[in-house]
Amino acid sequence: VFDVLIVGGGPAGAAAAIYAARKGIRTGVLAERFGGQVLDTLAIENFISVKETEGPKFAIALEQHVKEYDVDIMNTQRASKLVKVGKRIEVQTESGAVLKAKSVILATGARWREINVPGEQEYRNHGVAYCPHCDGPLFKGKRVSVIGGGNSGVEAAIDLAGLVSHVTLIEFGAELRADAVLQRKLRSLPNVKVITSAQTTEIHGDGKKVNALSYTDRNTNESHKVELEGVFVQIGLVPNTEWLKDTITLSRHGEIEVDARGQTSLPGVFAAGDVTTVPYKQIIIATGEGAKAALSAFDHLIRSDDD
Ligand code: FAD
Repeated sequence: VFDVLIVGGGPAGAAAAIYAARKGIRTGVLAERFGGQVLDTLAIENFISVKETEGPKFAIALEQHVKEYDVDIMNTQRASKLVKVGKRIEVQTESGAVLKAKSVILATGARWREINVPGEQEYRNHGVAYCPHCDGPLFKGKRVSVIGGGNSGVEAAIDLAGLVSHVTLIEFGAELRADAVLQRKLRSLPNVKVITSAQTTEIHGDGKKVNALSYTDRNTNESHKVELEGVFVQIGLVPNTEWLKDTITLSRHGEIEVDARGQTSLPGVFAAGDVTTVPYKQIIIATGEGAKAALSAFDHLIRSDDD
């Protein structure tokens, strides 16, 4: 029986594991892919105290740091169910194993919703980006497009307009869906063009990096090509909570609802990182939240009469 079982091996899960293990309690990490989204990231320049690193390098550093402690890492295992059985919490894996724990920290992260057009995968990290806070500065002085006219797309366009030379915002629907105040701000910017009723059809490149984007005008059916160096896909972040639907309270976006201590709706179950309702999905925030969830789990353990 684990004192703390962490599901997810990204920045939040790794931080939780280190904080839990440092309390001398029996700690396990179950992860489908240790490292998480960081494995798909090129440059990281905003993890404070590390001026610059690369995603895969950061992921190795996370794992090495966790391995400094007595943590049972179960990698390439996917959790499929969480159930409370008496005082224990059980996590079942897709391979059929059942892990028992006194407390659980959910840190299964999220994934960016993809547009699924030719060029998206090929130029991922080579002009196709998903996170303006992370990758915006890499496009300084260049031309970019933002796909998606909801709050995150319009926020991204406003943010990027201050860094890049020009932003083309592309929205599938006839109107932007962002809050009016954001739309006003967007329309006041001289270097932003908004195109609505536009379906992105392809991201083009020279074999190495992005150089254009094609879209179809849904009113006229005409195809257009925009020359640019970067494409930010902003059509939503999907939390990895499909397997928790029946056991934990989720927000309407599918995020795990947590309180200020990372406590979920199920006593003894905590959550941290991109999978939760905590805003701003960033590594430094996920690690902080992971540390917090571990301390909360420890607090929970010393207050329960379970042994
Ligand atoms: P994740 O990193 O998503 O990790 C989730 C973990 O849970 C993984 O190990 C995954 O395999 C596992 N998992 C999921 N489902 C299950 C399951 N059912 N069973 C078991 N395990 C499961 N942030 C920055 O601060 N700076 C940047 O420069 C930056 N660049 C980015 C670039 C890209 C391309 C992307 C995609 C993201 C970037 N981010 C950046 C965001 C950052 O990566 C995330 O905020 C951070 O990784 C969140 O950490 P997490 O631990 O909450 O989740």
